[in-house]
Amino acid sequence: METLKDEATQTEMTTKRVYTFGDGKAEGKAEMKNLLGGKGANLAEMNLIGVPVPAGFTITTDVCTEYNTHGKDAVVAAMKSEVEEAVKATEIAMNAKFDSTDGSFPLLLSVRSGARVSMPGMMNTVLNLGMNDETVKVIAETSGNPEFAYDSYRRFIQMYGGVVMGVEAEEGEHCPFELVLDKMKAAKGYSSDNEMKLEDLKIVIEEFKAVVRKSAGEDFPTNPWDQLWGSVCAVFDSWNTERAILYRRMEQIPGEWGTAVNVQAMVYGNMGETSATGVCFSRDAATGEDQFNGEYLVNAQGEDVVAGVRTPLEITVIGSKRWAERGGTSEEVRAKDFPSLEEVMPSIYTELDTVQQKLEDHYSDMQDMEFTIQDGKLWMLQTRSGKRTGAAMVKMAVDMFAQGMIDEKTAILRQEPNKLDELLHPVFDLAALDAAKELSKGLPASPGAATGQIVFSADAAEQWAADGKKVILVRRETSPEDLKGMYAAEGILTERGGMTSHAAVVARGMGKCCISSASGVVVGAKSMTVGGVEYKEGDFLSLNGTTGIVYEGKVATITPTLDGDFGKVMDLAAKNTRMYVRTNADSPADAKTAAEFGAQGIGLCRTEHMFFEGDRIWAIRKMILADDLQGRKDALADLLPIQREDFHGILKAMDGFGVTVRLLDPPLHEFTPNDEASQKEMATRLGIEFDVVKAKVDALHEFNPMLGHRGCRLGNTYPEITEMQARAIIEAACDLKSEGFDPKPEIMVPLIGTMEEFVMQEGIIREVAATVFAEKGIKVDFLVGTMIEIPRACLTADKIAEHAEFFSFGTNDLTQMGFGYSRDDAGKFLPIYIEKGILKNDPFQVLDQEGIGQLVEMGCTKGKAGRPDIKLGICGEHGGEPTSVEFCHRVGMDYVSCSPFRVPIARLAAAQANLR
Ligand code: ADP
Ligand code: MG
Ligand code: MG
Repeated sequence: METLKDEATQTEMTTKRVYTFGDGKAEGKAEMKNLLGGKGANLAEMNLIGVPVPAGFTITTDVCTEYNTHGKDAVVAAMKSEVEEAVKATEIAMNAKFDSTDGSFPLLLSVRSGARVSMPGMMNTVLNLGMNDETVKVIAETSGNPEFAYDSYRRFIQMYGGVVMGVEAEEGEHCPFELVLDKMKAAKGYSSDNEMKLEDLKIVIEEFKAVVRKSAGEDFPTNPWDQLWGSVCAVFDSWNTERAILYRRMEQIPGEWGTAVNVQAMVYGNMGETSATGVCFSRDAATGEDQFNGEYLVNAQGEDVVAGVRTPLEITVIGSKRWAERGGTSEEVRAKDFPSLEEVMPSIYTELDTVQQKLEDHYSDMQDMEFTIQDGKLWMLQTRSGKRTGAAMVKMAVDMFAQGMIDEKTAILRQEPNKLDELLHPVFDLAALDAAKELSKGLPASPGAATGQIVFSADAAEQWAADGKKVILVRRETSPEDLKGMYAAEGILTERGGMTSHAAVVARGMGKCCISSASGVVVGAKSMTVGGVEYKEGDFLSLNGTTGIVYEGKVATITPTLDGDFGKVMDLAAKNTRMYVRTNADSPADAKTAAEFGAQGIGLCRTEHMFFEGDRIWAIRKMILADDLQGRKDALADLLPIQREDFHGILKAMDGFGVTVRLLDPPLHEFTPNDEASQKEMATRLGIEFDVVKAKVDALHEFNPMLGHRGCRLGNTYPEITEMQARAIIEAACDLKSEGFDPKPEIMVPLIGTMEEFVMQEGIIREVAATVFAEKGIKVDFLVGTMIEIPRACLTADKIAEHAEFFSFGTNDLTQMGFGYSRDDAGKFLPIYIEKGILKNDPFQVLDQEGIGQLVEMGCTKGKAGRPDIKLGICGEHGGEPTSVEFCHRVGMDYVSCSPFRVPIARLAAAQANLR
């Protein structure tokens, strides 16, 4: 205890905990995101480059860590004097006084969270802090605008009460503050909050205080300093709320990072008709188009724009006209009732346009900005690199590169490989779309196509999705509590909210289709109505997030084609990569798809998959049931032409590229039926007694089949299987060669654990090849290599490499055997392990670089020692996972191989690995 205290005193004296900004000066800068959080670092930076930002200060993320280890009191004591000084500096910059008692204009503050990366799971912002019954009077008098003063006060009680004091809605009820507002509006016949008059606001404030007293069990704090410390600590506490933890888990954000706290002088967007607040983007976050856009509200504050309380208006004339066109609003009505900021406040608009351009140029990236106009003066409150869809990500990188804004390296490195997935997702079939019934039209908040059953809560979305259903989450508007439901859903539909609403921004970040402000849609607790027709939980709807149209029922989808910008990104990747990408494909059709995505060869062709199609299974069943060598040979003779034809097709589809064909791998029981009816059918069909079939099936039973009679153990006990497969491959290659093609077969022996296992298989293969060459009078080049998937193979890789011409790391089995987790049974504990933090990731999805990675690296190093020119690749699921691809690059592999639809992702990841 004593030492801990000493340590605390030590750090107390040496550590700077608070960084101020304001008046064109700042102690922080953009590069200090780790310490100041993204918001704080950029507030500082904006000050430094001459963008108008209200003064304030940032408490560092390190303080959050201190808070979590040493507790509230110690931390408040440690930073108290620094905070007091920073408040003083803010007072001077803004010419106002915090906790004003002498009649000078009160300084009100905003308290905002801000981690390294933007986190919607964190604490909501508290605005107008410093308000109490005294300050509100001074502000009312000095500003000459009492409505504004009391409106700010009621907003403060509502936010502080909710965020800091935990006043919230009871299960199934509305928020008690909202109930007060609803009651007032109903009594006075108002349709919106900002119609309230001064006397209404005063009543609301008293009722709000009563709500706090009842709900939190204590009075609303009147002392500004108490309010400040309460808010600061609430930000730190919010780092460990359930929803913040959930968000971090989903986005793989480490818990150690912590959040910073930004305390900033208030500027007021609710001072009347010359004031406003808004959100804007320097480019279109949905499509990537280089078009400034955003939304604003006159006489409003803070989250009004995002929360969808009032429907916000477009910032630019272009945007406003597009909006009107989509919703069928006439130009006359638009100009009169829904004018753009460009029309309403032309000079401020020009200033904003200049600032957005300046910020985009400064950061060389699309910016997502928040601003407030106080009585004709523009203030910027936030800027950050904006979240974007996969399509927008690709287009922006290509455009910015063409515009000379970023170089080739940045254009590649800025892409998130996994986001390319969205571009490979299905889109609606146009014919089906034409035939579908349009239900409603809303804002195209996030593009894409989604079809599913509607549910009305995040919990339901999660449950239904867990049951394997595709769902569409329907909400009035979304909030951070809905995150898990949004993740689980195919698409999101909201009754309210604009293009910058929570639903829209989060959906774009997730790459999920979203439609907001759907016209005519009224959302209830377990159903919704559109034009009087009710749709219940479980009904099917389809959303076109690109047009904003909602359709009744299911609409068929098709796989998209790659557009021009995607191709350009892939070209840049190809130019900058060292590793190349192959695909895992078992059929000519898959091979073709992958080749179109840029796969250069096949890294894994699983021959057993060929046995399941149509009647083929019977040939292999015949082989399994055969009692003697001759019987097996007869059955295999039936399989030979079938396999030869498959290899012919696959080698042809990948002409000129290497094709790795794995010899038979799974245990034989996988080819025989377990149930009696099917066994009877098998007996009849093969003309064998049922008892014999049953006895054979029983004999094939193994306790741990994945560690049993499979892989090269089959080929070494039944060499005739290897003979047949090798013959099929070599014959197909010879035939192709005589047809003028350039086949490059690579025959891969699975599940090698000892060099001897490999040597025996290799002998068979080479002998068969020599025989076929003699028979056909033609020769083809081929390689014989092995899959490295057993830990012992990694340990003895140098010996194996003396014989094997290539290694392909089978990281699925290697993970299974390295961890000792049965892949088929791990579902029972892996999710719990991840939840409890025992494992960071599912090691079957993300390669465990720390452990299994050592085996892989050793396999590579020893492999090269045994054969310097050995060809190295990976063919497990990990071959399409970006962090694992980067690892493969680092340990010197020649290629990665993954499923066809991951090929573009792997190509980009490979180029990034090479550039990092
Ligand atoms: P988020 O992380 O959810 O964007 P912010 O901390 O940016 O939360 O705050 C949300 C909104 O609160 C801002 O967009 C802005 O409108 C308002 N706000 C924050 N700080 C101030 C301030 N100093 N003056 C006026 N409004 C503010
Ligand atoms: Mg913000
Ligand atoms: Mg395997």
